[in-house]
Amino acid sequence: MTTVETSLPATGGPTLPQVRNVVAAIPGPRSQSLAQRRAQALPAGLGSASSVYAHAVGGGVMVDVDGNSLIDFGSGIAVTTVGNSAPRVVERMAEQMQRFTHTCFLANPYEGYIEVAEKLNALTPGDHAKRTALFNTGSGAVENAVKYARVATGRSAIVVFDHAFHGRSQLTMTMTAKNQPYKQGFGPFSPEVYRAPMAYPYRWPSGPQNAADEAFAQFAMLVDAQIGASNTAAVVVEPIQGEGGFIVPAPGFLKRVADFCAERGILFVADEVQAGIARTGAWFASEHEGVVPDLITTAKGLAGGMPLAAVTGRADVMDAAHPGGIGGTYSGNPIACAAALGVFETIEEEGLLQRASDIGDVLLSELATFDNSSGIIGDIRGRGAMVAVEIVSGAGDSTPNPAAVAEVVRRAHAQGLLVLTAGTFGNVLRFLPPLSMPDHLLHEGVGILRDAFAAL
Ligand SMILES: *Cc1c(COP(=O)(O)O)cnc(C)c1O
Repeated sequence: MTTVETSLPATGGPTLPQVRNVVAAIPGPRSQSLAQRRAQALPAGLGSASSVYAHAVGGGVMVDVDGNSLIDFGSGIAVTTVGNSAPRVVERMAEQMQRFTHTCFLANPYEGYIEVAEKLNALTPGDHAKRTALFNTGSGAVENAVKYARVATGRSAIVVFDHAFHGRSQLTMTMTAKNQPYKQGFGPFSPEVYRAPMAYPYRWPSGPQNAADEAFAQFAMLVDAQIGASNTAAVVVEPIQGEGGFIVPAPGFLKRVADFCAERGILFVADEVQAGIARTGAWFASEHEGVVPDLITTAKGLAGGMPLAAVTGRADVMDAAHPGGIGGTYSGNPIACAAALGVFETIEEEGLLQRASDIGDVLLSELATFDNSSGIIGDIRGRGAMVAVEIVSGAGDSTPNPAAVAEVVRRAHAQGLLVLTAGTFGNVLRFLPPLSMPDHLLHEGVGILRDAFAAL
């Protein structure tokens, strides 16, 4: 047992002092010693974006094992949207833990699972009849959305997009666009997965104004002329691409894709694993696009860090799978369900949809005032508390500049700001603060970024 110094807080959550406080090296001696143990015990393929080890997390800060209090612009990759160890989440989990931790829903069902399903059925776009099935991971939800789509349509082809990220399992790794690090050496890949261009405004070859029309035309040709619509089960798309670099599709693109699908009996599946559950200022990012998906996958923000994921969709599609064909030993774990109910309650009672929009307004407006005389800030984009900056070589040269991103991250970490990267070319800084982030820390974090950019 390691002894914990009394100076380290005993609990996390919103009672943690909401201050940035760098008291030791980053990473400090305790983090460094854990890194050494890790190197002996864990395989090399498990990466970590940061070398600081967490001790207690809450509000807008992470206190590391050396006592540094760091501003958290990552939320554990868009998971702790309502804040870490949020009180309503912890209370509901504690109550559930005292009663039972597991029965397996496939063996003995329980109410919490049904409550989460009812809530997602009510909150997701569209007032048609819906059903929800629960899983453990985002990739599990995407895998099962594909199973539902195939069994409901009797078709096999799945269409995904450039820059997509759908997970690391065999099928979802295939659906993911980026080779390094997600696919290299892990093939062969799953059959019947086809890729269309994404209407990526900043990098569309003939200019952002043409992105929606031209990307749609290429997508339509892929489906109609190459795959055949009658062979196509589903189009799976992130309404804002996450790992791909917070790419907001050109306006109208997703609506056209969804309408095209509806005309051909192809299911439109929105992978909202990263963008869903209040992150963008709406319950679901699809709402900003005016699309009503046939199926929606959720996970990251759903249960405050408990492993829970969902497929929510049209009742006729979801009911097409035969009894016993869907599920898993841990799927819809009762403690995870309790956590999700606490997340829904927190978002509603604390007005967090509005908070996400407000955080986005601050981030977008502040980032727009950064000195960009060098032209390396190529694009600033996002919605709500899901904002990114794409870094390039300089004015008029959009060559990706991952080295500058790495330098900003290094400087930010040294100052006590945790930030994540993204993007097919590794040249995007992404900001995903928890919605429990107080304003003063939001502004302080942005100030650290401003200085890091100025020092480049
Ligand atoms: C993270 C992510 C996944 C995979 O989720 P896991 O829980 O890591 O399996 C799938 N889709 C999107 C959009 C994601 O951001």
